Amino acid sequence: MKPCPLCEYKASKIAYPAPKNAPVSPKSRLANGSMLRSFDVVRCAQCHFHYLNNPVSEETLTGLYKDQNNHFYLSQEKLRLRTFERYFKKIRQYVPKGSILDIGCAGGLLLSIAKSEGWEVYGTEPNDYFRSSAKEKFGLFLSPSLEDLQQGFQANVVTLFDVLEHVINPRRLIQASFQRCKKKGFLFINIPNFDSLSSRLFRHHWWCLCDSHLSYFGTADLIRLLQEEGFVFIKKYPYMQSLELGYLAQRLKERMPVTGHFIMRSFERFGLSKLPIHYVAGQTFFVFQKNEILAGGNIFPSRATAQLTRAKENIPPLPFYL
Ligand SMILES: [Zn+2]
Repeated sequence: MKPCPLCEYKASKIAYPAPKNAPVSPKSRLANGSMLRSFDVVRCAQCHFHYLNNPVSEETLTGLYKDQNNHFYLSQEKLRLRTFERYFKKIRQYVPKGSILDIGCAGGLLLSIAKSEGWEVYGTEPNDYFRSSAKEKFGLFLSPSLEDLQQGFQANVVTLFDVLEHVINPRRLIQASFQRCKKKGFLFINIPNFDSLSSRLFRHHWWCLCDSHLSYFGTADLIRLLQEEGFVFIKKYPYMQSLELGYLAQRLKERMPVTGHFIMRSFERFGLSKLPIHYVAGQTFFVFQKNEILAGGNIFPSRATAQLTRAKENIPPLPFYL
């Protein structure tokens, strides 16, 4: 059993078992950005966090993201830009102008908007294809990882769009984001929300449950993690995405080949494939601010540290609501 990515507790219960007859091929699925799932979604027996019981190692994962071909993602560039414009407007409500570090910035679309508005822009992206596309299209020079940025570099705004749920150690990524955020700076995070209406309605059929999503944050999980790592929760908004109808049908086809194919062909027949759709499908956009006083668990020891101490000393775990 994989330990909990948040509190490192080793016991968990299966919340949503892997679909029957699921071919266990996480490598090919991750490499293609597939929305299918081969593993159980489990619930930590200590902190109740939900995560994928996926055995892929960090090294394998980094290698897969590095080489992934993301042509399909960039086919929706225009509408993705519209989505990012929407959320960059929100970012500007908190920080009118300054420096931005977009971690896992894909093809640099958000940064291209920030750059055109005179911001100082920095981004990290492990994928070779995305980095060369960002350079070619927007003249952006992205770093492969956070470690490649100048030591001590900090930005007014740090962003994690569609990133946190993909990493093996989300706590480490939040700690690294804290290091890269200026005093009183802001961290903006977008995640598929496990507490969302669509997640509750569709349960194990929810489209965000897939092999490339390793963690399933609900609102309380995310706020707890961020508070433990020195951030203050400010606000959350539903995340509205814009994509073409044909693209969405193609994604549906991966999960439901027959129905998806039928819908896709119907859209093509009626010339609707390129129709832009603006939808909210279970994602949430969170605003956090760095709070130096709460940092590092020195003044208020983090819940995870407290739980680990209790586990080592055989004291029953803290209840979830504490
Ligand atoms: Zn846990």
